[in-house]
Amino acid sequence: MDARPQHDRGFGIGLAREILRVSGSGLARDIGGRNGGPARARRGAPNGQRCCGRPSVIRQAPVALRGRLSVHEPMARHVTWRAGGAAARAYFPADLQDLAAFLGRLRADEPLLFVGLGSNLLVRDGGFDGTVVFTHGALSVLRLEDDGLIYAEAGVASPKVARFAANHGLGGAEFLAGIPGTVGGALAMNAGCHGGETWGIVAGVLTLDRFGRLRERAPADFGIGYRHCGLRDATDERFAAAWLRLSPRDGEAARRCIKDLLERRIATQPLQLPNAGSVFRNPPGDHAARLIEAAGLKGLWVGGAQVSEKHANFIVNPGATASAADIEALIARVQATVRERFGMELVREVRIVGEAAGAAVPCPEGERS
Ligand SMILES: Cc1cc2nc3c(=O)[nH]c(=O)nc-3n(C[C@H](O)[C@H](O)[C@H](O)COP(=O)(O)OP(=O)(O)OC[C@H]3O[C@@H](n4cnc5c(N)ncnc54)[C@H](O)[C@@H]3O)c2cc1C
Repeated sequence: MDARPQHDRGFGIGLAREILRVSGSGLARDIGGRNGGPARARRGAPNGQRCCGRPSVIRQAPVALRGRLSVHEPMARHVTWRAGGAAARAYFPADLQDLAAFLGRLRADEPLLFVGLGSNLLVRDGGFDGTVVFTHGALSVLRLEDDGLIYAEAGVASPKVARFAANHGLGGAEFLAGIPGTVGGALAMNAGCHGGETWGIVAGVLTLDRFGRLRERAPADFGIGYRHCGLRDATDERFAAAWLRLSPRDGEAARRCIKDLLERRIATQPLQLPNAGSVFRNPPGDHAARLIEAAGLKGLWVGGAQVSEKHANFIVNPGATASAADIEALIARVQATVRERFGMELVREVRIVGEAAGAAVPCPEGERS
């Protein structure tokens, strides 16, 4: 079996051999074959699976990879902060089935990071020594099911879900219009604003494990909190899709609500500069932005990174010259000053991964993309 993805350009079979299981063992064994059990023929989702039933493992037929694999992928291109290092390897799947097949071949010990629109993420300057999987533009199915639930794959942009729901006369997802990430990122972060939270509208999710097996999960399978979501059992799964339960609402009213929400954001957030939204969680009963402003930190610079003059809980990268180290150092300065002044510990909301610059991920000769 040739393990090279069909669209593999610019790198050799060596890379594929490095991270993929390329023996002739075949996908059928690796995907779905371990837990056995025939796929249930069900309505509404890929391969006929459906949400909210008992967890199921879906058996899949062997398929050739159709996505694109690259090396030394600059992550500054893929995160809204426009800063940071490279991913040693990156996979751009063609669709959900292709991603499942890719995971089925990936070495079990390969560090793995799913990335949506990178609006809550920073990769340190030394890079991420593993494989980044990009969901946006690949896991892109969005549809209204017969039973009224919305099925949205993990790579669909959250604002698109908000507009889709409004256009189908459904309310409750309007808040997603202001969150510039994907459904997968919103689930992982339990993203929310203006009184709405992602898991407040989730009826069920579809997850992918390290072996590419799809599994239906109910909200009760997760521990969910403020900007946090974790599986109760310690299995290694990522989000492939979600079913959202919304209420009937006049479409015009829902669209007006979205418009108001976006106007408020334009007025209060530095949206014209590279940023990653709120850097810190709001402490109970207070606002991180209030504390940062009261500590006199608005406008503070470290290297190319600055505490926004417009919204103190945002760090911006005005000239797109900041390193990840600048941003991280500024985060630490803000935390230290707020701790000193008010005895409050600001907890980071943004996710930071990878290695510091000294420990740069090696880029093999001739494999730079
Ligand atoms: C201008 C601006 C405004 C924002 N406003 C808000 C707001 O009001 N409320 C709010 O909550 N957030 C806000 N954010 C933060 C961010 O948009 C959200 O957290 C968003 O949900 C992240 O989605 P993403 O696809 O960009 O995730 P990424 O940044 O790509 O990833 C974030 C984390 O989620 C994980 N992840 C991504 N996809 C998956 C997946 N399929 N399965 C498992 N894990 C996954 C990643 O590994 C990473 O740990 C804002 C950001 C910006 C830039």
